[in-house]
Amino acid sequence: MAAPITTVSDSKESQGLNLIAAHSHIRGLGVTPDTLTPKPNADGLVGQQQARKAASVILQMVKEGKIAGRAVLISGPPSTGKTAIAIGMSKGLGEDTPFTMLASSEIFSLEMSKTEALEQAFRKSIGVRIREESEVIEGEVVEIQIDRSVTGNNKSGKLTLKTTDMETLYDMGTRMIDSMTKEKVMAGDIISIDKASGRITKLGRSYTRSRDYDAVGSDAKFIQCPDGELQVRRETVHTVSLHEIDVINSRTQGFLALFSGDTGEIRSEVREQINTKVAEWKEEGKAEIVPGVLFIDEVHMLDIECFSFINRALEDELAPIVIMASNRGSTTIRGTNYKSPHGLPLDFLDRVVIISTHPYQADEIREILSIRAQEEEIDVSPDALALLTKIGQETGLRYASNLITTSHLLSQKRRAKEVEVGDVQRSFQLFYDPQRSVRFVSEFEKRFIG
Ligand code: ATP
Repeated sequence: MAAPITTVSDSKESQGLNLIAAHSHIRGLGVTPDTLTPKPNADGLVGQQQARKAASVILQMVKEGKIAGRAVLISGPPSTGKTAIAIGMSKGLGEDTPFTMLASSEIFSLEMSKTEALEQAFRKSIGVRIREESEVIEGEVVEIQIDRSVTGNNKSGKLTLKTTDMETLYDMGTRMIDSMTKEKVMAGDIISIDKASGRITKLGRSYTRSRDYDAVGSDAKFIQCPDGELQVRRETVHTVSLHEIDVINSRTQGFLALFSGDTGEIRSEVREQINTKVAEWKEEGKAEIVPGVLFIDEVHMLDIECFSFINRALEDELAPIVIMASNRGSTTIRGTNYKSPHGLPLDFLDRVVIISTHPYQADEIREILSIRAQEEEIDVSPDALALLTKIGQETGLRYASNLITTSHLLSQKRRAKEVEVGDVQRSFQLFYDPQRSVRFVSEFEKRFIG
């Protein structure tokens, strides 16, 4: 299962999908694991080596649990891969690490306060890994542990084996207990059972010290019920976000709100109760906290209230790592008359680690466009790719990348197998890039007014 990528609002859900689709070619940060050196072209990422190296160092710190509650800013001109790198980071995190995407402008359009929207985004980015026990269904492949309580032998621990047959499983449970004493099967031995003969064979040891039990992956165990009957129970692990737990426990919304995406505002008492409960589960070993990543795009669109909220939220014990992106230089902090770098208040800027992205060279643009064409399963002739590259250099990567799709539609119309220069030219005439569009409208206005 991929890391859950959630967005704040329903409308954003579809925008989020678009965002992800534009980056569907990205599978990681493309670095050598030991040295964290970025390869020129790997995991769908091309160039931008310095930023990728910095991102992978941060990722390493996240994995080691050293950076929760810090903020990273990726700054750079439009279409230089800021979002792409953030997605690359999210792919490099564990499978169940939550990754939430938030476009700053959307929080002003939601039917809830800005700080509530931010609070929800923060809580969507914190995972709670919960362990639960349930009975094993016949036919499942399980690894079995024998509980110390069942063996009645203090020296013993848990044994690991595999079977798909319930009868054999129960039978074996009893035999295993016998074997513990008669055949000197020790805690940590991996044993197999022959279904026909019921013979237990020792395969090897999975761990040496009994206190390693918990670390050893074993998904089911025998439990002796008070009436003496043996039960096979499986331990399952789910990861849900704090926000999902909030919604499920919020009486006004109920869990169905999770499906509609319309969760409304959640009362602070509910959140406090959940925090207490989760802390208890953690204490009892039933749950673990998984700090995830909250990606805030166009961060200069946030206002001073939002920044003070984030500043405070980062101090919280349960804080995700916040990665922000901005393509603005010095700009006014929304809600004030002050200018500051990237529109971030100075005290906030102080605690932010900055990574910057740079404009691409022609050959990098060509490689990225070529990866996009492959991703969309579109054949592009070398000349057409050269033209797209030139357009990319002049108008930006995103526009050139969109032209691949539109040129493909045109090439399909003329039943061609590949996109040719003509398709790109025609597409370029049909669909304007922002600069041309602005120029056209302002010229038209002049003529109209004149
Ligand atoms: P903006 O400031 O406009 O939000 P951005 O810096 O976030 O832009 P992206 O959206 O990441 O830019 O990049 C535009 C497109 O180019 C996306 O499809 C992205 O996946 C792709 N892209 C950008 N940089 C790279 C790269 N280094 N390698 C591969 N693909 C890239």
